[in-house]
Amino acid sequence: MSAPALVDTRTPNEAHFFPGEDHPWELVIGLEVHAQVTSEAKLFSGSSTGFGAEQNSHVSLVDAAMPGMLPVINEHCVRQAVKTGLGLNAQINKKSAFDRKNYFYPDLPQGYQISQLYHPIVGEGVVQVQVGPDKKGDFESVEIGVERLHLEQDAGKSMHDQHPTMSYVDLNRSGVALMEIVSKPDIRSIDEAKAYVTKLRSILRYLGTCDGNMDQGSMRADVNVSVRKPGGEFGTRCEIKNVNSIRFMGQAIDYEARRQIDILEEGGKIDQETRLFDPVKGETRSMRSKEEAHDYRYFPDPDLLPLEFDDAYVETIRAELPELPDEKRARFQANGLSEYDASILVADKAVGDYYEQVAEGRDAKLAANWTINDLLGALNKAGTDLADSPVSAAQLGGIIDLIKADTISGKIAKDVFEIIWNEGGDPAKIVEDRGMAQVTDTGAIEAAVDEIIAANPEKVAQAKEKPAMLGWFVGQVMKATGGKANPKAVNDLLRAKIGE
Ligand code: ADP
Ligand code: MG
Repeated sequence: MSAPALVDTRTPNEAHFFPGEDHPWELVIGLEVHAQVTSEAKLFSGSSTGFGAEQNSHVSLVDAAMPGMLPVINEHCVRQAVKTGLGLNAQINKKSAFDRKNYFYPDLPQGYQISQLYHPIVGEGVVQVQVGPDKKGDFESVEIGVERLHLEQDAGKSMHDQHPTMSYVDLNRSGVALMEIVSKPDIRSIDEAKAYVTKLRSILRYLGTCDGNMDQGSMRADVNVSVRKPGGEFGTRCEIKNVNSIRFMGQAIDYEARRQIDILEEGGKIDQETRLFDPVKGETRSMRSKEEAHDYRYFPDPDLLPLEFDDAYVETIRAELPELPDEKRARFQANGLSEYDASILVADKAVGDYYEQVAEGRDAKLAANWTINDLLGALNKAGTDLADSPVSAAQLGGIIDLIKADTISGKIAKDVFEIIWNEGGDPAKIVEDRGMAQVTDTGAIEAAVDEIIAANPEKVAQAKEKPAMLGWFVGQVMKATGGKANPKAVNDLLRAKIGE
């Protein structure tokens, strides 16, 4: 298969340029993301894919490549790949086939990996990426092209730290289904690369086709980096293998781009090679010079029939697609949320679901503010996940109801939130039991207002000149009433008594 011609769809943007000695450089990045298919069983065997099991406990005779064993395709994995293709707005190839990629490695008992080189299950697609927010809270929307998505097997794992003179191998991962999602070289900055992987992970999680847990190896990326003069010809790329965190990817690209720029500015040339990122040193180093497809002697796997399906099969899967992040964001914006708020709320499906419960039958904007600023803020500060949130959506909704009913002010609501965070409980009951309800009884507020006016004649005189001084009186009344006076009632009374 000849490599597809590279088409540049992007206009150079100065904000992305890397400074060089004589002229700026532009980054060109393409990502090959390996995403483990969410499936109980492996791609061609019935063994479990469970994470964290004892070494070599999830290995069937097929996974161990015993002679005479035959692979049998797991249809669930095929559906998952088609579903992912649809979620990436991609072409579904109704006919695809598996090839053998031959190489020797101790963690690859077959001596080849079953993959799809010539006829992948999914063709071209596109991912909408929101980059930002910038300092003004604005997002830039960028389209990153997907070249293809294919199914392949994972290899096992060599362990070099178990014995002083020997290496061990764990075949639990051997044969686990992966989707390799290859982007076009459309990415032009580190921020775009991070936003792309984040968005891809979010889509996969919404679809339920990959859990996206990078720390467990469920998602990792080969990062292709080159530099060029802005808008010029594509440069020679280096591929950084197996990057397993978004933060490391950013560091790896930054280091690699600077390394290439230094070489080019000194008149050298870039050798196309495969490199490794060392997170401790923050460097990439050469692993091997670029291998070519012919080195692997790819050929169609004779043990597996091509995959063929009809439109009806694809349409059944399309009908099962859930609402995806972009659709959800558009719906939230149509309900009055800003792009910023909507983007934060849809990034993680669980957060979106939580928000929708809070907003159900309530003010969308108020619900968004409380979910983002208070709940997510507190979770972030505590280093906790939403799944372990001490405040449920029903409790947060209850707090908002109390604000809306003028039972408590926004300020007291923060105290109620904190009490629930620490002790749990029903918001209305907490407010009642602890006497936190707002004083709306104008008689009581008026008494406090009169007392403060009487005690501060000079301030009253100043406030008549300068109405902004009223704020000071509001503060005093609030203090005197333990923050429970209805702010509107306080303002109205003060204006009537001091104002012009
Ligand atoms: P290989 O398996 O040889 O790495 P693939 O086609 O699977 O080839 O992946 C190539 C990846 O490299 C794609 O993500 C593509 O977008 C990216 N790429 C191609 N040319 C460049 C380039 N000049 N600079 C950066 N990335 C590139
Ligand atoms: Mg590659």
